Amino acid sequence: MSPSRLPLSLDWEDWFQLCCPPFDRPGALDRYECRLELATERSLALCADLGAKATWFCLGDQARRHPGLLRRIAEGGHAIALHGLTHRRAFEMDRGEWRQAVRDGKALLEDLAGTAVRGYRAPEWSLRGAAEDWWKDLPELGFRYDSSRVPLAVIGRPAWPRRPHPLAAGFWELPPPVLWSGPVRMPLWGWGPRVLPFSLVRRALETLAQEDAGTPLVLHPWELDVEQPRLPGLTLGHRYTHGAGLRGYEGRLRDLWDGFQLTTLEAWVESR
Ligand SMILES: [Zn+2]
Repeated sequence: MSPSRLPLSLDWEDWFQLCCPPFDRPGALDRYECRLELATERSLALCADLGAKATWFCLGDQARRHPGLLRRIAEGGHAIALHGLTHRRAFEMDRGEWRQAVRDGKALLEDLAGTAVRGYRAPEWSLRGAAEDWWKDLPELGFRYDSSRVPLAVIGRPAWPRRPHPLAAGFWELPPPVLWSGPVRMPLWGWGPRVLPFSLVRRALETLAQEDAGTPLVLHPWELDVEQPRLPGLTLGHRYTHGAGLRGYEGRLRDLWDGFQLTTLEAWVESR
């Protein structure tokens, strides 16, 4: 066990796959330019340069379109986990529909990637609200951990634990990192590390690594794609969280992550 260990996760989705209509509907994959291959190659190269093995939370609809790319990720020694059959939020389905989509998505990824799928992360952390207890179905469906419960308002619950913890015997919750624990909090993924002061983020990561608590870093491949087009019709909030600080982010990440041993979430769970 290394004191500098940090699990790394990537949510494998294309640049336009926001969790709101029309971007999360099946037709979106035909409507917008596909840039997933380019973004995936950049992410794989970044991982290779840093000696990182990561968990890739993958979408079934993208896996069907890019089975070769999915296999390349798996062959690179990364772990394949499930982000959904599509990028639709869990709580927008009924429980039976969600369960079936999770079952089908897991089987599809395992078939295409030729590797076991043990982790789940709902699109936009959507095991919340009406879907707050649905994680209870995951062990029975063959999962070892979930990474969908964020200790933040709006996209989760501030009262939820900030560090990985068992939700049931042998089943873990690995929440993403959040800066600060009071009423004011920031996500340490997405726009957070793109715009917050470098030293503040780096110190927070060093603390997480020292704790070795299994808190996963989170990256979207499209965050390395500065040339991506602008999406029409976004709210001001969406435009900011999606686009702020993209320029130069890859270089910033190389410095932010320098010196850490970046591992899969599966490796961390297995070591418990
Ligand atoms: Zn997502």
